[in-house]
Amino acid sequence: MPNKIPTLQPATKSIPNLPRQRNPYYDTARWKRLRRWQLSHYPVCNRCGRPATEVHHINGLTDSRNLESLCKSCHSKQTRKENKNGV
Ligand SMILES: [Zn+2]
Repeated sequence: MPNKIPTLQPATKSIPNLPRQRNPYYDTARWKRLRRWQLSHYPVCNRCGRPATEVHHINGLTDSRNLESLCKSCHSKQTRKENKNGV
């Protein structure tokens, strides 16, 4: 009787701490245009009043008018909050 018990290898392969898979939507010309439009019309962070550098989708990617300008710090705070909520 062959004594070949498959041994479970410990997961030594380190998984690089990659950011979450980027939504392909963010690479479209449509989004880039929208984002530019949003930042040129609303150049100030909607939360703290600092210069906005990022555009946040308030309710996901469904509605292109659902945008708000945020600074980097407020946007990452917002993203963390949403990730915690499982969105
Ligand atoms: Zn801000």
